[in-house]
Amino acid sequence: MEDKVCKKCGSNKLIERAQIVDYGHMNQMNDLSIHIKTTDKIFFNKYEKGKLTAEICGSCGNVELSINNPHELWEAYLKNKSL
Ligand SMILES: [Zn+2]
Repeated sequence: MEDKVCKKCGSNKLIERAQIVDYGHMNQMNDLSIHIKTTDKIFFNKYEKGKLTAEICGSCGNVELSINNPHELWEAYLKNKSL
């Protein structure tokens, strides 16, 4: 398999699968994620969640985001559109 390179500058210094966190109250770390609502209730709706991970170029700083469960999110998106 070929080494992955940065799409912007072509460097192979890629930091793969970096976790993206948000520091909340009391410095508690929360993973940044995508939420898609799959039910249409006033309370207690269900969501499909997807955790974001980043690929960071150690040369130019370009960041590419990706998600761990694209198929589940797509299904949730279709469900959400038909609500
Ligand atoms: Zn780069």
